[in-house]
Amino acid sequence: MYKQIGGNNATATGSSEGTTAVYALTEGAYFCMLAESGGEAVLFDAPEASFTSSFGEKFPNGTWLTASIDALLSEGTKLKYIVYTHRHWDHMGAAGLVVEYFAADNPTAIASRRTRLAVKKRDTKDPNTVFGNNRGVPVPEWYQEEVLEVGGLRFTLEKANAHQGGDLMVTLDKHDPQNAGEGIDSTIFMVTDTVFAGWAPFYSVNIVQDVSDFLEALDEING
Ligand SMILES: [Zn+2]
Repeated sequence: MYKQIGGNNATATGSSEGTTAVYALTEGAYFCMLAESGGEAVLFDAPEASFTSSFGEKFPNGTWLTASIDALLSEGTKLKYIVYTHRHWDHMGAAGLVVEYFAADNPTAIASRRTRLAVKKRDTKDPNTVFGNNRGVPVPEWYQEEVLEVGGLRFTLEKANAHQGGDLMVTLDKHDPQNAGEGIDSTIFMVTDTVFAGWAPFYSVNIVQDVSDFLEALDEING
């Protein structure tokens, strides 16, 4: 199941060549975000739930997630990045499958330093145990910039410690002239496991690690 949440205005002034689109993808419980612009694509998170056996049977040539990405991206568009928003396994457990499926595109996994270290640490342990890299999650590169450009889109990746140390708050700002030129007419936030659409934010404060940082993240979003 997916929903287009932005872009797709090929006639917008200053737009890059080809389709610009941003999608929210969900298999019912988990979400991830896919965006393409100017022949490049980025996937934010690769939830583990997307490759459970039942989904695998439905999509013998891949998984729900890989099949969806394949179907949504325009022909010729290359998956350039996979971003891990935080270091919880359930949100990056399918990253190895995605990288394998799109190997021809040679995607780069990126994350904050703390997320990178967490994956690296697991990677050194026995993969047959729960402490090891039992899902073959690629160790991400430490992305030190605040801006991530994908085709004509400019995402900002801001560090927060609300849910886990080193979370990345992802913003696609409609006020950025470059994004506006790509037809982005609403600002998109992705703050995984901290902010949920239609959710009362103070209910159990989800499972955030640091309440004051969580409140700060909300302030940031409310602008
Ligand atoms: Zn989490």
